Amino acid sequence: MAREFNTVGVVGLGTMGAGIVEVFARNGVDVIAVEINESALDRGRANLAASTDRAVARGKLDPVDRDALHSRVTFAVGLPALRDADLVVEAVPERLDLKRRLLAELDQVCEPAAILATNTSSLSVTELAVATSRPGQVIGLHFFNPAPVMKLIEVIRTVVTEPDVVSDVEALCARLGKVGVSIGDRAGFIANALLFGYLNQAIGLYDARYAAREDIDAAMRLACRLPMGPLALLDLIGLDTAYEVLDTMYRRGGRDRRHAPAPLLRQMVTAGLLGRKSGRGFYTYERPGSSRLTPDGLTPQAGTLTDSGAGPVPRTVGVVGSGPTATGLADLLRGAGFEVLSVGYDADRDTVAPLADVDLVVEAVPDDLEIKKALFAGLDGICKPGVPLVTTTSTLPVIDIAMATGRPADVLGLRLRGPAPFSELVEVVHTIRTAPATVTTARALCASLGKTAVTCGDRAGAIVDALLLPYLNDAVRMLEASYSTADDIDAAMKLGCGYPVGPFELLDTLGLDVALDILRTIYREAPEPGLAPAPLLRHMVTAGRLGRSTGQGFRAHPDR
Ligand code: NAD
Repeated sequence: MAREFNTVGVVGLGTMGAGIVEVFARNGVDVIAVEINESALDRGRANLAASTDRAVARGKLDPVDRDALHSRVTFAVGLPALRDADLVVEAVPERLDLKRRLLAELDQVCEPAAILATNTSSLSVTELAVATSRPGQVIGLHFFNPAPVMKLIEVIRTVVTEPDVVSDVEALCARLGKVGVSIGDRAGFIANALLFGYLNQAIGLYDARYAAREDIDAAMRLACRLPMGPLALLDLIGLDTAYEVLDTMYRRGGRDRRHAPAPLLRQMVTAGLLGRKSGRGFYTYERPGSSRLTPDGLTPQAGTLTDSGAGPVPRTVGVVGSGPTATGLADLLRGAGFEVLSVGYDADRDTVAPLADVDLVVEAVPDDLEIKKALFAGLDGICKPGVPLVTTTSTLPVIDIAMATGRPADVLGLRLRGPAPFSELVEVVHTIRTAPATVTTARALCASLGKTAVTCGDRAGAIVDALLLPYLNDAVRMLEASYSTADDIDAAMKLGCGYPVGPFELLDTLGLDVALDILRTIYREAPEPGLAPAPLLRHMVTAGRLGRSTGQGFRAHPDR
């Protein structure tokens, strides 16, 4: 029979601990909530009260249930209060020495039958377990942030965890209304191993001034339908916690440079910019602990490049090409009231001559550098000076196309996503030669098409693919290493991080061949070992398993 958990203890009531207390108490479990001193205890109590009050205000919790929830929680300073707990979950800062010391003390305080659980994100549960005299009763119980909302709990067993401890904890997860995914003890487990490489890379893009923080976040939210962009998510997680998680994953996970903490992260932690909890991180908040943003020196002002406000909107637009992107674009432009002149492209005939008087030209001819260079050289000779010349290339460097003209200041890229009428997001790609006015015009054009424009530099994958594809590649590597299954990996990202689809569902939809092409482009530009396309992905493409389009990818799609 499964063990009864009547009283549980939670140690550390910070970002995670207070939420974990709420989860237990909401589900009828008595909780002893412990902090290191009175002021931290007051903060933890306030965190819990604020969260349950918010749930009441949103109609998600009845006021009577809130009061019952609070009546189940006892607050205390110091570990001796946990003497009678059947299970203790620690959620103190992500430091091995601290957690080992804490678990050793808990081992002294708690009944011999009690289970000790750690909410660590990245440390070795095995190393923590052996700090106690009961390693068989130590387990990882990795909640996700915010704990009351996210459905996933990763249950981490070590080689010595007793099987009934695992099954009892799995039953507890179900009682809490959560989905428990049981896995072995590997750095970052499933979700963080995939999430943190992506978050770290986003810091790198931001630090390199490749795009503004708002644009990086908006791009990932809109293109991938993520609940938050990466930089806002880092602020929620806490930059100190994120730093520790990355540093541990880097050291434990074979020194993959994707996990080497970005230098900016370290600097921000040292400077006390920890995210929401300190009131400032990548963004600035109304006060410490608040989720409400307040404008700061980096907030886009109306009329600047990072704002989609008005610029000189062109009236007549030339569209070159005859494929679905070109026709879709022409329809979209006409629908928005532009005068559109559509021309096909034939290198041997002067098809672009009618575009002499248009205010902007956008091309969607085949993604071949020689074809595009010839086209742009031709447009350069025909179009009026200062007329923006726009390419929709998704794989070629825009600068190579721009330098085929004598007016690189007028050339930029627009990355449209999905089939016409395209997704809400458009990435405006400028080169080091593009004039600010050209960017402003392009953003204004996007705004009048009802699209959200983000601006970024000219690098493989722009913002979205540069961040998305390496994450998908990491998921394939994880599968290849037999750490978990495609189903569990997809479930972990959906239930733990709020992603609308898991990486394998997404790969099958995108097309494994398309994903491999983009990854190769990214890897060619930045030949980091961590960005090399996973062998399994290459093999699947070679074997013709391209995803939905062929009826078989990581899963079978008999109904294609
Ligand atoms: P945090 O800094 O927000 O909170 C840690 C709390 O522990 C603080 O309130 C601190 O006062 C308290 N504490 C420190 N030493 C203590 C002691 N000896 N006894 C009692 N309390 C003590 O940290 P956090 O972000 O909540 O992270 C806690 C754990 O949860 C870490 O292992 C982290 O990896 C993990 N985690 C964090 C997230 C996240 O998004 N932040 C998500 C999942 C797991």
